[in-house]
Amino acid sequence: MKTPRVALLGMILESNRFAKPADRADFDSLTWLEGEALMREARAETPSLATEFAAFVAAMDATGPWEAVPCLLAASHPAGPVTAEILAEVVERNAALLGGAGPLDAVYICNHGAMVAEGEDDPDGALIERVRAVLGPDVRIVVTLDLHGNISPRMVSESDLIVGYRTNPHVDMRERGEEAAFSLRRILASGTRPEAVLIKPPIAPASVSLLTAQAPYGTLIDLGQRLQAEARGAILNVSIFGNFIFSDVPDNGLSIIVTAREDRAAAEEVAAQLARVAWGMRDGFRRDLTSVAQAVELAQGSGKVIFSDAGDNPGGGGSGRTTELLAALHGAGCEGVLYGSFADPDLAAEAHERGVGTTFTARFNRGRGDNPWEQWDTPFEAEAEVVALHDGEVVGERGMTAGRRLHLGPSAAIRMGGVTAIIISDRTQTADPVFFKMMGLDIAAASTVVVKSRGHFRAGFDRWFAPEQVYEIDTAGLTSPVLERWPLTRVPRPSYPLDPDTEWVTP
Ligand SMILES: [Zn+2]
Repeated sequence: MKTPRVALLGMILESNRFAKPADRADFDSLTWLEGEALMREARAETPSLATEFAAFVAAMDATGPWEAVPCLLAASHPAGPVTAEILAEVVERNAALLGGAGPLDAVYICNHGAMVAEGEDDPDGALIERVRAVLGPDVRIVVTLDLHGNISPRMVSESDLIVGYRTNPHVDMRERGEEAAFSLRRILASGTRPEAVLIKPPIAPASVSLLTAQAPYGTLIDLGQRLQAEARGAILNVSIFGNFIFSDVPDNGLSIIVTAREDRAAAEEVAAQLARVAWGMRDGFRRDLTSVAQAVELAQGSGKVIFSDAGDNPGGGGSGRTTELLAALHGAGCEGVLYGSFADPDLAAEAHERGVGTTFTARFNRGRGDNPWEQWDTPFEAEAEVVALHDGEVVGERGMTAGRRLHLGPSAAIRMGGVTAIIISDRTQTADPVFFKMMGLDIAAASTVVVKSRGHFRAGFDRWFAPEQVYEIDTAGLTSPVLERWPLTRVPRPSYPLDPDTEWVTP
């Protein structure tokens, strides 16, 4: 067999319809890499780009000769919809590079799957469709997506294989990147054309009820893997996407994709069985939160607890600077609290100017504007001592970002009474213990830890906190999982649990 030529590209963004639109600076601050620079970063010891992308490259390198044709990979932290201009730039740049690349055997597309663009509710599908249009039907297209992808029929019909994460918190990106590479090797060796089936039961849950260590979602994903194993090679992949509700798009909702090696009927049967089981367990896709008042009581108690500031998760487009829970814990005089992390560059810069050991009045959110996405970034003031400073260049230690380089910008730890808060400059969710450890703070010694992260922190802090010590706090903000609070206009209706009486004839 001749050496396969495989192009690589992608556009990674999880869009929260209500958050600040993603502009070029959002991509430049994370990933905008093309050609040899992209390959160098993918093969770096601690790459800053998507783990599955680096893993795909490593697995291709390890499984025989191949010729990489690197195009453009652009990635932003979760934010609002991307501008039409940037979407067009990424799509057209990749189309031009593919068009001039000479004969290709395959393309690897590394996307998130829940992107929204100005004037386009399915930009992931638009990108895949454009790649297919440039290359024609005989080039295999393999895509990896986040578990929170909002899957459109176009994404499935225009690609050959979609591989989705199977863990939430996300800790299997390396395995999924490798799986995409191994599957591509098999597809190219056999010369077969995979057949994929998509079923979308009308269930559109919030992310807090999509943990894979628990029923119903974990049960469903495990069943998918069992059915794939029982099919003895007939099924190439089973991916069950939970959706990202805050995108507010017509493709919101649970998505079951079963890809058969070549026999479509085998995929249809497995997908239908999974859809029936999902529908039967729909009651489980609901979750109760802990109120702010209950959180204060818990923090004053003797138990060791960790709180998710669920309404303000930068990993879902949150601003990373709401102060509701900070004000409540500080106002109640709670002791032994570590709180990470507030994305407030003005405050971080002031702490750096003043220096370790100095005291000052910390003013949060002094740079707040009057945009709708800033409405929960309430100003807050307290007397503070600068405890530690850092340049914010760190490598993740545990969970989702283990081994990945993070750029947090100038950062500080400031103590306000019994609460020590981490201030960073570049908005990033606190899913990793490194946010506290870089400041010399001892997580084991804290009685309450609060993180601006919805669920990924569970994989980073499991050494210190068992699942029963974890509470999701009902704070206001761009990622409040109380769906009734949001003016969702594009999510298909009826959908469970938004419409409790939703009916569906299962396949
Ligand atoms: Zn996700």
